[in-house]
Amino acid sequence: MRILVVEDELDLQNQVKRVLLEAGYSVDVASDGEEGEFLGDTEPYDAVVLDLGLPKVDGITVLKHWRQNARDMPVLILTARESWNEKVSGFDAGADDYLTKPFHMEELLARVRAIIRRSAGHASPLLECGPVSLDTTTGKVTINGEGITLTAHELKVLSYFMHHQGRVVSQTELIEHIYDQDFDRDSNTIEVFIARLRKKLLPDLIKTHRGRGYSMAPVE
Ligand code: CA
Repeated sequence: MRILVVEDELDLQNQVKRVLLEAGYSVDVASDGEEGEFLGDTEPYDAVVLDLGLPKVDGITVLKHWRQNARDMPVLILTARESWNEKVSGFDAGADDYLTKPFHMEELLARVRAIIRRSAGHASPLLECGPVSLDTTTGKVTINGEGITLTAHELKVLSYFMHHQGRVVSQTELIEHIYDQDFDRDSNTIEVFIARLRKKLLPDLIKTHRGRGYSMAPVE
C-alpha cells in the first residue's frame, strides 16, 4: 500500500513518514500544495494524509481539485486546531476522515488502516481469503490459524491482494502500489514475490491471468 503525505512542517512530515514506513507502507511526501496536488493527480495512492494549511495551494483547494478530476483515493485531513468549520469544509471537499493536531501516531495509523480498508470495501480489520487471513492491525498472517512469517515486501504484495480480492491486478498496478516513486522498480521481482507467497501459503492462492495480471480468489 502506497501513501502520500502532504505536510509543510518538516519535523511532522518526517515523523509521519517514518511511522508509516515502519508500519509497512510505501510513502511519498510533498511539502506544499502544488507538489502534493501534482503527485495525487499523477500517481496512484491507496491513501493520502493531507495537511490543510499548506504553502502555494491550501489543502481544501487541493482536495477539491482531486475530486473534480475524479481522483477518488481516501484522504485523511490534518487540521491545525479544534475548528469545526475547517472539518466541515474538509468533508464537503471530499475528505474521508480527519485528525486534529497534535495527534498520536497510533491514532494516525489506525485511521489510515481504516480508510484504506473501507475504500477497498472491507469493514473488518481481519481480511480473509479461504484459509489465509491477514490482521491489518498487526500485519500478522495465518493459514488455517497457523502463523506464517513473511518478509516486508511479501507482506506488501499479499496485503494488496487481500484488499483487492476478486479482481485482476496488473503487474503495473501492483508495482505502483507497493513501491514509492524513488524505488528502482523491477517487474521480475513481482514474479519472485508471488512465487514465494504461493510457496509459503497456498500454491493456488494467487492465480495468473496470462497477459493481464494476477488475482486472489475467483474472478468472473
Ligand atoms: Ca501546515
